[in-house]
Amino acid sequence: MIYLDYAANTPVDKEVLDLYYDYSLKYFANPNSVHKLGLECNKIIEDSSKEILDLFNLDDFEVIYTSGATECNNMVVKGVSDRYKNLGKHIIVSNLEHNSVIASASYMQELGFEVDMLPVNSSGLVDFEELKKLIRDDTILVSITSVDSELGLRQPIEEIASFLKQYPNCKFHTDATQAIGKVDIDFKDVDFVTIAPHKIYGINGIGILLKKKEVSLKPIISGGRSTTVYRSGTPVLPLIAASAFALKKAITEREDRYKHVEELNKIIVSHLEKYEIIHINNTEKSLPFTINFSIKGFKAKDIAKKLEEKEIYISTKTSCCPPNSPSKLVYALTHDKNLADSSLRVSVSHLTTIDEVNEFLSSLDEIIGE
Ligand code: PLP
Repeated sequence: MIYLDYAANTPVDKEVLDLYYDYSLKYFANPNSVHKLGLECNKIIEDSSKEILDLFNLDDFEVIYTSGATECNNMVVKGVSDRYKNLGKHIIVSNLEHNSVIASASYMQELGFEVDMLPVNSSGLVDFEELKKLIRDDTILVSITSVDSELGLRQPIEEIASFLKQYPNCKFHTDATQAIGKVDIDFKDVDFVTIAPHKIYGINGIGILLKKKEVSLKPIISGGRSTTVYRSGTPVLPLIAASAFALKKAITEREDRYKHVEELNKIIVSHLEKYEIIHINNTEKSLPFTINFSIKGFKAKDIAKKLEEKEIYISTKTSCCPPNSPSKLVYALTHDKNLADSSLRVSVSHLTTIDEVNEFLSSLDEIIGE
């Protein structure tokens, strides 16, 4: 089996899983219990949160644990809108956002908020001039992904955050799900950062929202006390500790992982470029982890199916999109429906070997040749 779908999910790191297993057996008390074991559990969670914030040098932030990036994104868009609706009812989201941001913004639109979509330019970067035109005094939230899930475009988050400082009523959220462990971003001027450990060899079922202490939001899940007042439910200590460890590994090993992936990317792209019928949808602003391309005259799902028969797994687009729909992100960049209809996403990792890449490419040659 050759797995080339790391943007959708990553296999759990064995050391991370071992930690999860050990902690599940050892630290099983409710971290909100006031007996000795409960207090010990609470301390582990506090230490994990501190470790996470230290990794990003964010000492004026706090950590909110959720069920995944989808919940973080819902929590920010809905919770910020609800909390700050007295200041305005205008939201801006980029058109490269994950469905969990777009759908949450649409939900707020149904409740009477105004939502503007921020386009990207031909390099795939959000259009700054357009942002300047769209932003108003009653804009309470701007949400721009750090790196999108299909084209891997790295947005200038630091620059946008610094520009948005002129608008004190406006909170800035970035979905960094596809960025963490791949690129170094300074989040100090961002208000909310979404992270998903299952994209960095952590365990599925947990999301991490970094929130600047001075900003607030209305919880979307209410109930009893947890690590913060923003998200109720018993904190899942083993998941939290395992996530802190996965993050530490992803960040400390980032540069070596990146170099390896860059090499793989070169092999794949130079091979694909030999075909006149292949259009690479990435731009020079894309990170090397995701190779997105369309093959003229071929349906993306037929290619993916034929590769699957050879036990090679790639995606036609982000895994949460409905099947048979065009890629919204490829369309947002290219404005070409044919490219958006036929796009394929190959996502590689430090675990991917050159042999795997070569086998994928020769299988693709065979399929196109047929
Ligand atoms: N945001 C981005 C950019 C993603 O790529 C994904 C998952 O593919 C999500 C959010 C949703 O993540 P989760 O599955 O943790 O809810």
